Amino acid sequence: MIPYFDYRQQLKPIRGEVLHAVARVLDSGALVLGPEIEGFESEMAQILGPGFGVGLASGTGALELGMRALGVGRGDEVITVPNTAVPTVAAIRSVGARPVFVDVEPASLLMDRAGLEKALSPRTKAVIGVHLFGHALPVDEILSCLSGRKIFFIEDCAQGFGGSYQGKPLGSFGDLACFSFYPTKNLGAYGDAGFCYSRDADLAERLRCMRMYGMKGDGYAHMDGVNCRMDEIHAAILRVKLAHFAADQRERCELAACYNAVLAECPFLQWPQRQAGSQPSHHLYVVKTEHRDRVCQALQEKQMGFGIHYPIPLHVMTAFTDLGYREGDFPVAEAAAKQILSLPLYPGLAMREVQAIAETVRSTLEGIG
Ligand SMILES: *Cc1c(COP(=O)(O)O)cnc(C)c1O
Repeated sequence: MIPYFDYRQQLKPIRGEVLHAVARVLDSGALVLGPEIEGFESEMAQILGPGFGVGLASGTGALELGMRALGVGRGDEVITVPNTAVPTVAAIRSVGARPVFVDVEPASLLMDRAGLEKALSPRTKAVIGVHLFGHALPVDEILSCLSGRKIFFIEDCAQGFGGSYQGKPLGSFGDLACFSFYPTKNLGAYGDAGFCYSRDADLAERLRCMRMYGMKGDGYAHMDGVNCRMDEIHAAILRVKLAHFAADQRERCELAACYNAVLAECPFLQWPQRQAGSQPSHHLYVVKTEHRDRVCQALQEKQMGFGIHYPIPLHVMTAFTDLGYREGDFPVAEAAAKQILSLPLYPGLAMREVQAIAETVRSTLEGIG
């Protein structure tokens, strides 16, 4: 049996370090907003370029607080895609703004630039670009589309951490970038954690204040706030994981290359295309096939895990029907949702397991005449 995701193999070699980090926090007497979160924030900011990091409680919290800190709220429109994870849009709703969807490009399944241009309105306050699957958006095209307008570009980097575009890390392009350290993400915690990154010191300062009830460590509310901080135990664990991140990324890359080698020339199989000059984060290994049901059945029979990211586009979900969209509004995203399939990809997965999964996919599709 090969699970779709399992962190335990990856944990084995670092277990001692992780437990040591937890003990260090427990013995320190500081459990919330202490030296570990500060250390983690500056280590992350060093990776992402000159800028400022803010440790938060989740990726959704990062998107929500980020928008609040930028002044996005009631009456504003926020443009994003219908094939992202629910939390991208849950966050837009939670600040009281209106999500506006644009379809994706057929080749990449990422935000369509022409669709974006058409969706812009005087009420557009922000665009949330999603580096879906860990594939980089065509950032320069999106930025040139927004240039000269007062519209914030927010990168949803929940799946993109570790990827790059034109040599620069994903997350370093927008007015703000939001990260998730949910266990399945490339930098995974053992529970919930998230992060905002920005080059704007004032914005980072507002986020620091807002994550703690609007206070500046003085018991006085300077602005509206919530409780959305990362705790010290998680910051300490994430510092351990960050030290192993480059090795984990190499492992993801090798596993993806193994899939590519076995699946090359496989009939009825396509891949979402990447932008020229980009490096994916290898968050998900996504393929597309019109015979998805047959492939899923074959994988299930061999107890091999798989995922679908995501099976139902957001604009047809019950929570968002009041927006007035209907089935057929975003044909590319809708068609892709019926064909995409994510194969297991995580550090600790064995090369022979990847080979076995890829061979199952290949022989199933080759058997279709
Ligand atoms: C995981 C994810 C989020 C939410 O992150 P949480 O930490 O689970 O709140 C947001 N956007 C995308 C694209 C994601 O994949």
